[in-house]
Amino acid sequence: MLGLYLHVPFCSSICNYCNFNRGLFDAAVKTRYVDALEAEIRQARPAAAPPAPADTIFFGGGTPSLLDPDEIRRLIQACEETFDLQPGAEVTLETNPETSTTERMERFREAGVNRISFGVQSFREPELRRLGRLHTADRAVLAAGEARAAGFDNVSLDLMMWLPQQSMSDWKESVDRLIHVGPEHASLYLLELYPNAPLKEDMARAGWSLAPDDDAAEMYLWSLDRLDGAGYRQYEISNVARAGRESRHNLKYWTDGEWLGFGCGAHSTRAGVRWKNVSATEDYISRMSAGETVAVERRHLTADDRLGEAMFTALRLADGVEIAEVSRRYGVDVWEKFGGSLEPFLAIGFLRREGSRLRLTRDGMLMANEIMSVFV
Ligand code: SF4
Repeated sequence: MLGLYLHVPFCSSICNYCNFNRGLFDAAVKTRYVDALEAEIRQARPAAAPPAPADTIFFGGGTPSLLDPDEIRRLIQACEETFDLQPGAEVTLETNPETSTTERMERFREAGVNRISFGVQSFREPELRRLGRLHTADRAVLAAGEARAAGFDNVSLDLMMWLPQQSMSDWKESVDRLIHVGPEHASLYLLELYPNAPLKEDMARAGWSLAPDDDAAEMYLWSLDRLDGAGYRQYEISNVARAGRESRHNLKYWTDGEWLGFGCGAHSTRAGVRWKNVSATEDYISRMSAGETVAVERRHLTADDRLGEAMFTALRLADGVEIAEVSRRYGVDVWEKFGGSLEPFLAIGFLRREGSRLRLTRDGMLMANEIMSVFV
């Protein structure tokens, strides 16, 4: 079953830590972009073949909620008319709290969206200002209420930890406010500062610093314990959910699934082939208008690529990976191939093996990059 990812590269302002494929909102460019995106989706159906089944749509960005609800409706319809979209398909819209109103939420819901993911990042005012975010903490709480008032029963909130000047008690405050708001799903990310991030300059100028690495580890472990106690289950390194509310779309990335990405910079993986669309918005629009391909990188994944990816993506899941199943799927004895490199991580308690199932412990999740490098 395919997942469909639709990229919307527009934002009202650019946050000082952001390394995503995005640019400033321009109404005229947005209109042309939506036309191009719809055309790319419709082209995905080969003339003589039945439509491929799909069960998730994910509008990611950027800030997809800057599109008009009627544009979201058009794009969902294009997906329905191109793919065999399953009843009950999960349709997620990434949303920034400042773009939310009850009326817009109602219209997004009528358009076919059934899951809202809010980029909250922090419930503390000074942290939001340091990150250059446009919303306030109170606006984020109101936005979640607006989604509820519009009838959404599947809401996710993102938070970021290890922010400049953030103390352990600051982080606890944000996590507790998130629990109080009560979303069905939450994502907890560690701030990653890419080399030329403007936030680095802001930090140098203002004398802001990051807490020591040990505090970042404590923040992570504390929040997962706290969320456990509040009825959430961690199902992936950075994600927790109430029962049955895991992100079905994102699970495709972690369970060796297949997905098609539409829009500038979107990636696709299907039938052992991975490709990426041209990144620049204008380039994407003009290629689509000229009837040229927008896919600029395409490669066949080797058997080794696929096996390595199947292992390191599945190990991100709290339930871990069923080694016998992956061995069967790829015709390789996974333990014979990787066991020797994994033994030291088992010995120090970063990995646990229960029968044929291998999984990271929470301490191991903190060392995930080192452990996953075994598979690359
Ligand atoms: S709203 Fe999101 S995508 Fe846009 S600039 Fe900020 S972090 Fe980046």
